[in-house]
Amino acid sequence: MHTARRTHGFTESVIRGMTRLANQHDAINLAQGFPNFPAPDVLKQAAAKAIRDDINQYAITWGAKHLRDALTRKYAEWYEMEIDPETEITIACGATEAMASTLMSIVDPGDEVIVFEPYYENYGPDTILCDAKPVYVPLPVTGHIDLDRLAAAFSSRTRAIIVNTPNNPTGRVLSREELLGIAELCQQYDAYAVTDEIYEHIYYEGEHIPIATLPGMRERTVTVSGASKTFSVTGWRIGTIVAPVRVTDAIRKVHDFLTVGAPAPLQEGVAVGLEVLGKDYYETLAAEYRERRDVLCAGLLGAGFRCQPPEGSYYVLADFADLSDLPDDEFSFWLTREVGVAPVPGSSFFSQPEMGRRLVRFAFCKTVDVLKEAAERLKALRRND
Ligand code: GLN
Repeated sequence: MHTARRTHGFTESVIRGMTRLANQHDAINLAQGFPNFPAPDVLKQAAAKAIRDDINQYAITWGAKHLRDALTRKYAEWYEMEIDPETEITIACGATEAMASTLMSIVDPGDEVIVFEPYYENYGPDTILCDAKPVYVPLPVTGHIDLDRLAAAFSSRTRAIIVNTPNNPTGRVLSREELLGIAELCQQYDAYAVTDEIYEHIYYEGEHIPIATLPGMRERTVTVSGASKTFSVTGWRIGTIVAPVRVTDAIRKVHDFLTVGAPAPLQEGVAVGLEVLGKDYYETLAAEYRERRDVLCAGLLGAGFRCQPPEGSYYVLADFADLSDLPDDEFSFWLTREVGVAPVPGSSFFSQPEMGRRLVRFAFCKTVDVLKEAAERLKALRRND
């Protein structure tokens, strides 16, 4: 059977494959990043009410007005960004579709897209689907981006750079200096910044700075975020895109023909969440994640992994070189099967698998009891016990 060439450049999602393996072995799934705790009641009630009120037909293709208006207020309150909800917002089916639709709207075949490495696995296939060339630049887990190295990666062929902060999988929260460095290069080379800010409310150090708020960047930034992580509704698939009018025009067309639109009643649920939940909700969200982070990191260090507590997001990239000589994928399968804890193999975050051979990623978007049980199971790894 013929399958299109553009799908041959990438394999299936390793992250989602690990979820299937975890389920098969009844392992604690610290692979795919989705919470095991409930979404806020206000969102659930508002979505259920919307269904009962018969908001069950297509929403406007670029998003329900209620949600676009709520989002406009959110960006003004949090980041002092002025957005026109009629011309500068698109609601997508998750940040995943938001990123893909954005790249398809701005990238031409042969263009280059700069991607920090390690990277969330979707960005590779996203650039391949656009027939673009990814150009990888290291993002150190500790320490800052080497801006000279980044500058060397830019050229007249660079159409965009993907900026994911707080970062998956490194946990880095990019500093103002790093973002200013990226912004300067985008302007110098007339490139777009396409951001993935899905973890914008989950960080423990520094601050979250949307690159769109830096001087000269609003006109060349596509700001992607969504409800999944902020409101613990990864299955709702509600992503958001803020972009200049001309770019929004293009994104809306791609989004329309790919999806027709995001789920109407769930958009109502998210709109109400944005309207009703106050700063205390976001503070509690981050505080609870900090506690989960500390429980997992202590468990990993106690078991013999080497890792740093992340500055943001809900992942820990851990080095297992002191524990096993297996390559990352075999170690991950073994850990899932024999120890009952599933991570993601590090190589899935790198363009060259060798670079991730000693690494695995653990997610800590789980209740503390589950993380403590995972830590307990991981004690089995301690060599001299
Ligand atoms: N972003 C999450 C992760 O990295 C979820 C991935 C997914 O399957 N959408 O695990």
